Amino acid sequence: MNYFIFCVVFIFGLTIGSFINCLIYRLYIGKSFLRGRSFCPKCKHGLAWHDNIPLLSFFMLNGRCRYCRRAISMQYPAVELITAILFTAIFVLEVERCGGIAMDLMLFNCSFAQLLKLLRNWVFTFFLIIIFVYDLRYYLILDKVTVPAMMVALVFNLTLADDMTVSIFWLLAAGSVAGGFFLIQFLVSKGKWIGGGDIYLGFLMGFMLGWPQILIALFVSYIVGSVVGIGLILSKRKTIKSEVPFGTFLSVGTFVTLMRGDWIIEKYLNLL
Ligand SMILES: [Zn+2]
Repeated sequence: MNYFIFCVVFIFGLTIGSFINCLIYRLYIGKSFLRGRSFCPKCKHGLAWHDNIPLLSFFMLNGRCRYCRRAISMQYPAVELITAILFTAIFVLEVERCGGIAMDLMLFNCSFAQLLKLLRNWVFTFFLIIIFVYDLRYYLILDKVTVPAMMVALVFNLTLADDMTVSIFWLLAAGSVAGGFFLIQFLVSKGKWIGGGDIYLGFLMGFMLGWPQILIALFVSYIVGSVVGIGLILSKRKTIKSEVPFGTFLSVGTFVTLMRGDWIIEKYLNLL
């Protein structure tokens, strides 16, 4: 196995994680993420390049801003590390599918479609991490994120499709089933159980996963949501009436299905 390429992918993931943190903060304060230098969110002091190295700076600075000494949110190193781990895992999983012995050789064995699928899974995961963190922190799913992600998902999946007309039908069907499912809950509860952002996220999940994977994603999301919810209620950190960051669970379900959906379907069919 070639560890060099492994490290390159990991560092690439750290950098994307750092970009996601920056994006989330700037979406929150409503500032363009294309312009302006990085700064401390607390004292607004501009950051030097060495204050801004993913993961490393956080530990070198002992988790505090160099200028105002106030604590840097754990979100920063956590998102960087998780992004790097997920990006590396996606890389290993996709490159493994191409067959071969050495990691660096396998990359050359990959067809264009296989490399495109690797890129697609990275891009989908990028959007899912933003939705996961933003909903967890601010209890909101931004249309500014889900709508562009829907376009990107359709373009990737239609490019990868064997038959485009068949594929667009099933992608739209999957999106409508999940989006419609949330829309009904939204209307019945008058927006109490579920937010408007969840409806968009339902469509996005369908466009990313297609049919029948969307059903697996919903199922996994509800299981994860219930387990975490019961855990939080039992540990008295939340009550049954607490607000739930549902988008966080939906993005977990979508990611799991994106990675292992076919495997889950196969296992399920074997049980029948
Ligand atoms: Zn500061």
